Amino acid sequence: MQAGWDIEIRRLLLSLLAGVLLGALAGSVAWGVALALAGVLAWHAYRLRQLIRWLDSKGRRFHPPDAGGIWDDVYLRIYRLQQRNRKRKRKLGKMLNRFQEATAAMPDAVVVLNRDNEAEWWNDSASRLLGLQNPRDVGQRITNLLRHPDFRAYLEAGDFSRPGPVIASPVKEQAELAIRVVPYARNRRLLIARDISHLQRLEQVRRDFVANVSHELRTPLTVINGYLESLVEDERLGPEHARIMREMHEQALRMQQLVDDLLMLSRLESGQAMEPETVVDVAAVLDEVVNEARRVGEGKSHRLALEADPDLRLLGRPNELRSLFSNLVFNAVRYTPPGGEIRVRWHRDDQGRPVFEVSDTGIGIAAHHIPRLTERFYRVDVGRSRQEGGTGLGLAIVKHVLMRHGGQLEIESEVGVGSRFRAVFPAERIADEAESPRPIAPVPLPGR
Ligand code: ADP
Repeated sequence: MQAGWDIEIRRLLLSLLAGVLLGALAGSVAWGVALALAGVLAWHAYRLRQLIRWLDSKGRRFHPPDAGGIWDDVYLRIYRLQQRNRKRKRKLGKMLNRFQEATAAMPDAVVVLNRDNEAEWWNDSASRLLGLQNPRDVGQRITNLLRHPDFRAYLEAGDFSRPGPVIASPVKEQAELAIRVVPYARNRRLLIARDISHLQRLEQVRRDFVANVSHELRTPLTVINGYLESLVEDERLGPEHARIMREMHEQALRMQQLVDDLLMLSRLESGQAMEPETVVDVAAVLDEVVNEARRVGEGKSHRLALEADPDLRLLGRPNELRSLFSNLVFNAVRYTPPGGEIRVRWHRDDQGRPVFEVSDTGIGIAAHHIPRLTERFYRVDVGRSRQEGGTGLGLAIVKHVLMRHGGQLEIESEVGVGSRFRAVFPAERIADEAESPRPIAPVPLPGR
């Protein structure tokens, strides 16, 4: 740089000197100097033009021309800058390629959405699983491409902290896709769809297995129970044998209850409509359930009060609802010590929703157990549950029945004070006054 400047200053001084000398000889030093400066200016203008041409032709004439003086420095600096930029560009290009190769190799469909939920970019799996086509669908709203109502509702709700719905693939036959939207940057979203068909199939195999085993066990158990029932009453047995028979009968009944609950649960899980929906006279069903509970819990001398709105009838599946009611009532009987109070209510809450509520003054449940109570076989005290004849499946059944009726379960409890279970149904399930309840075929109450 310094060398370039030195040459440039020397050139300027020499030009000025030549101008002064020639001006002195011609009789006007000022004109000589002016001419010399004009020459210097013209020379720099020429070099500047050359530089612009070189910049315009970059790529074709890659190496800088030999310009001399300060211009060599200028060319060299621009040249180095360009080299550096080229390297950076190549590196970025490679990184982009690698990223695209990695996302293309992903088995999950990935779609980049802009703030208006328009598809900007997607990988190969998105074409395979979601049917997006390049370039036809670029810039299209994703809800026009994936028209499933659950997906639309999930996207519109905007709560992406939870996983999205499972929907059928619009192009791949029998493929079930678990949808997830992940917001990133500012107003950008990544839509990820994972093919979970194999998991669904495994789950189906598990469900079928449980259902088949329960079904196969049912008949032999009924026979065993029948014989045991008559044996228990056989007066020819000595006291010791009578005790053994009674215990065997009790355990066989427990097993039967377990098998019945498992069957009920697998039917509920598989989503099979076991029975059509009808208008259920809930107050009448509760009357039966509560009477049965009074009979079963006789030894405990509970105060069991029923308060049911006879005009509040529900649209639902009667057997499932009966199971829900009796599971909650019998739990209260089971986990409330003798002399305790149990209150069963069927009413509309202040938002007009039908609510089934069971409160007791029983042993209560510690707060950390509450979120897990509806898991299959989850019990706070396994020994106590078994002793009371519980199967550990009651609340799982309650949860499924409620899910199938669009309702939800609310649990409040305090250890040593009591519990309150509320099954809240949507207001739309209230049956019209004019509709008369169809008679419900009596079904055996769960033996609890
Ligand atoms: P179980 O057949 O064991 O009663 P559930 O699924 O009906 O199974 O209930 C799960 C667990 O929740 C029970 O084992 C018990 O620990 C607890 N539970 C349910 N209802 C009550 C209640 N009313 N009071 C206290 N604990 C309860």
